[in-house]
Amino acid sequence: MFRSLLVANRGEIAVRIMRTARRMGLRCIAVYSEVDRDSLHVTAADEAHPIGPAPPADSYLRIERIVEVARRAGAEAIHPGYGFLAENAAFAEACAAAGIVFVGPPAAAIRAMGDKARAKALMREAGVPVVPGYDGEDQSDARLAEEAMRIGFPVLIKAAAGGGGRGMHVVERAEDFAEALAAARRIARSAFGDDRVLLERYLAKPRHIEVQVLADAHGTVIDLGTRDCSVQRRYQKIIEEAPAPALAESRRRTIADAAVAAARAVSYRNAGTVEFIAEGDAFFFMEMNTRLQVEHPVTEMIAGLDLVACQLRLAAGERLPFAACPPLAGHAIEARLCAEDPAADWRPATGRIVRLAFPDHEGVRIDSGVREGDTVTPFYDSLLAKIIAHGPDRATALRRLAGALEATVIDGVATNLLLLRRIVAHEAFRCAELSTRFLADHAEDLLAASRTAPDRVLIAAAAAVLVDEIERAERTARTSADPHSPWVALRGWRLHGTAVSETAFDQDGRVRWVRAEWHDGYWRLRFGDENEADTEVVLRARREAEHDLLRLEVDGVVGRARVRRYGDEIVVTLADGTTGTVRIRHPLGGTGGAAAATGSVTAPIPGRVVRVLVSPGQVVARGETLLVLEAMKTELRLAAPCDGVVQRLSASVGDLVAEGTELAFVAAGEGD
Ligand code: ADP
Ligand code: ADP
Ligand code: MG
Repeated sequence: MFRSLLVANRGEIAVRIMRTARRMGLRCIAVYSEVDRDSLHVTAADEAHPIGPAPPADSYLRIERIVEVARRAGAEAIHPGYGFLAENAAFAEACAAAGIVFVGPPAAAIRAMGDKARAKALMREAGVPVVPGYDGEDQSDARLAEEAMRIGFPVLIKAAAGGGGRGMHVVERAEDFAEALAAARRIARSAFGDDRVLLERYLAKPRHIEVQVLADAHGTVIDLGTRDCSVQRRYQKIIEEAPAPALAESRRRTIADAAVAAARAVSYRNAGTVEFIAEGDAFFFMEMNTRLQVEHPVTEMIAGLDLVACQLRLAAGERLPFAACPPLAGHAIEARLCAEDPAADWRPATGRIVRLAFPDHEGVRIDSGVREGDTVTPFYDSLLAKIIAHGPDRATALRRLAGALEATVIDGVATNLLLLRRIVAHEAFRCAELSTRFLADHAEDLLAASRTAPDRVLIAAAAAVLVDEIERAERTARTSADPHSPWVALRGWRLHGTAVSETAFDQDGRVRWVRAEWHDGYWRLRFGDENEADTEVVLRARREAEHDLLRLEVDGVVGRARVRRYGDEIVVTLADGTTGTVRIRHPLGGTGGAAAATGSVTAPIPGRVVRVLVSPGQVVARGETLLVLEAMKTELRLAAPCDGVVQRLSASVGDLVAEGTELAFVAAGEGD
């Protein structure tokens, strides 16, 4: 076994790999980009080396620089993690050329599987069922159109070099095919530098089932059972579990055997995952990921194995200690905590994590790449942490996961935490009614903001301000020489009798005022904005022993809310998991949160312009997509703020733009 390891990655996976490597006595070497200098993975290493500026192309994707650092630091092996260089055959070769062990498969296996079209052709030869479609060399428009007709609609166009859920286009009708093909090629060329595509029958309601495999250099290839990763958004997983539930044992075995055959067909070594798509009784090979996968912990928990340790041993040439799949015990489910806003079309979010707490519960494992105080930057993908629960059966694992998500606290950056809680609480998920349409089918339950949520958030925020005022008044009354000092009254609060105060808040882009009338023990609260009728409630509130927890009584209904203040910003989490943020408005120098829909379209976070869909002078409707920005491995559609005419267009494809840059301006109202 080697004694030192460089981890060519960041975030939770770099931290997780180093945890095992250190336990095995290896010296751990981290690399970091300029924005990651103080990040958790740097702290977790024995030593860490800078590799360049924040954009991945200037740091985590620089093969020569990373190999050079490894050589200088005396690393005997390099683990690539997932993403970045993990499936880059040239990187595996560069490591070998420098005499450093690449912890992964041989470059030839990476190449064979890296191209979805070639991989499918190989699999067909090996007798592994593949999704019906076309993956031929002839890429002419005529041939592709003809093949699409043969396959039947809806048809899926995939970039041969695609990955990470990007580069896929569903085409519903034959007459839309030519245009969709042109768009798919354009995107494939700009995103992957390769415009070849393949066509697949688009399955209506499939499950994503995959198999973990391990292979040594002595001819043994085994599987470690199945995982279901059907709960996805943008073709990317958010919840994964092992074993795949609601699947007969004989079927699990058939799929696992196909995965082992797939790995053998490319002389695979080390850990890998073979992904299948299953519908009805059929299952088809989709692709093989020739690396450790994000969701590997669920397999670790049921197999009682450390897959990173397996990878390191296999890379060092050791033999697999089993000839077939070892016994698997219980069930495990993972939820990915991501900095993104499901309610805003999954927009990735940035910001400082002002508060972060994970539970320490039985059967629960947390793999996190961040800690409290860290800043989520726009340069990398949005995964912050994984919350994984294990139990003797699925119901127990699910209950533990729900409890762990309930106890997780994260403030300062938008996340999908509430959505995760809703998914694991959902009846269809509990019954394992899984398909890749899960989120779409249950969007109403899972994504809808409850209609009363903004009001409840506002009341809780106002209650926090009022309780603070009362406490301050009490303190002043206690500490001033004259307990009946008029200063107390001047602040607006008399502990006895009545007093009135009014505060304005910015909430979801509108200004809402709250008028509170103190009645010796409770408040009469009126709130509203210029477009809504006032609402009035009777509010009682006091602080619980835990400082940021409030006990609220609203018109007699008792509940609790977690309310935290960060300066003027108030973050509320209600008992049902609903969260919201409001900001106190000061009468002078207003924060402008209610900015009227101006015609300006700006970059919400830094990114790269990947598509411009309009030209100056074009008439557009409110909501129509004007440009597409890529940031944090996600495409953001930027829409027209109003009906009108595109007056200015200051962005072109390929531009790197800073947050707040104006990209277009729509002059309102001249639509017709
Ligand atoms: P998995 O099945 O392990 O989730 P994905 O294909 O979704 O596999 O990718 C794994 C991770 O790597 C994801 O977080 C994804 O955003 C990231 N990723 C994918 N491709 C790249 C790339 N070229 N550069 C950096 N990160 C990537
Ligand atoms: P990537 O390399 O981006 O991970 P995959 O080929 O693994 O691409 O597909 C990602 C996801 O897209 C799958 O998990 C599935 O949800 C969906 N998908 C892929 N192929 C099909 C298909 N033929 N029909 C329906 N959905 C598909
Ligand atoms: Mg995939």
